[in-house]
Amino acid sequence: MIIIAEKNGTLDALLEHVHALDFKTDVSTGDERVVIGLIGDTRALAEDQFSPLPGVLEVRRITSKYKLVSRQFRPTHTVSIGRQVIGDVMPHPLIIAGPCAVETEEQALRTFAEIAPFADVFRGFLYKPRTSPYEFQGLREEGIHILQEVKRLYPEKPMVQEVLDPRHLDVLNAVTDVYQIGMRNMYNYELLQEVGRTGKPIILKRNCAAKLEEWLLAAEYIATTGNMQIILCERGIRTSLSGEYSRNTPDLGVIPAIKTASCLPIIFDPSHSTGHADMVEAMSSAALQLGAHGLEIDVMPVGYDRTKLRVDGAQAITAVELERVARAARK
Ligand code: PEP
Ligand code: MN
Repeated sequence: MIIIAEKNGTLDALLEHVHALDFKTDVSTGDERVVIGLIGDTRALAEDQFSPLPGVLEVRRITSKYKLVSRQFRPTHTVSIGRQVIGDVMPHPLIIAGPCAVETEEQALRTFAEIAPFADVFRGFLYKPRTSPYEFQGLREEGIHILQEVKRLYPEKPMVQEVLDPRHLDVLNAVTDVYQIGMRNMYNYELLQEVGRTGKPIILKRNCAAKLEEWLLAAEYIATTGNMQIILCERGIRTSLSGEYSRNTPDLGVIPAIKTASCLPIIFDPSHSTGHADMVEAMSSAALQLGAHGLEIDVMPVGYDRTKLRVDGAQAITAVELERVARAARK
């Protein structure tokens, strides 16, 4: 952190203030201004601890607020899901796919059967965070037998489940290999740490209004529990154009930005970011071109009436399109 200050009688008091906080200083004096460099770990300091002091013109952070998840601190990193490795060294992008929500046993089992040849990891949630309390909230505990059946049929396929509340962890533990924190809970720091302490891999979705730094600080909350098995997922942000031709605005530029700033793998969700099945293939291809480590995609059974789905029917593709996405990803 550096403090740019006026070159006048306030300097001594300012330096005293910094030294009292146990930081050494490197002072560079120009013709009109003084630049004070703080030496030490400044991550716990707030700019506001200095900006109101007499003579201070500007306070600037040089090192990032996050450390454990930064590329600077950890030049290479990978996450393991079962036998699959995701991140800086991986054979091909990871395909996570399945129904948005498990709605019926038939819908879930048909979907998983059709996509099993193309999906590395399954998703299909029991707990659904819905904007309205009157909408279908997922089968919740009542659906657990369906996931047990999926596990029995496909023991080699890791399963992702979203956690809305720490109380769900007990229910989900036996059928879950990867927990997902959805975009609504990215800012729920107690939940992030509670899920972090399970030690299982975690997909951390970006809140639709989150800045890159806020997202990485949310990941840092998980990392402080000792769990570095974190995968970031871009799922579209809210802009003034969201909803016009896509549900959210896919922020593909964040993919290379994250790869520079952080050691964590980043995947892309073309389903929730666009909201349209016919945009999924093109956006998947674009995200992989930009270096995404994988995709998380909503799927429904071939020939299914999408209007019968209670959650996100418009964005679900079928195994026919998923096969094309998966083949292109492996190229
Ligand atoms: C989901 O993946 O099903 C989901 C609810 O995503 P998001 O949290 O990004 O809305
Ligand atoms: Mn959904």
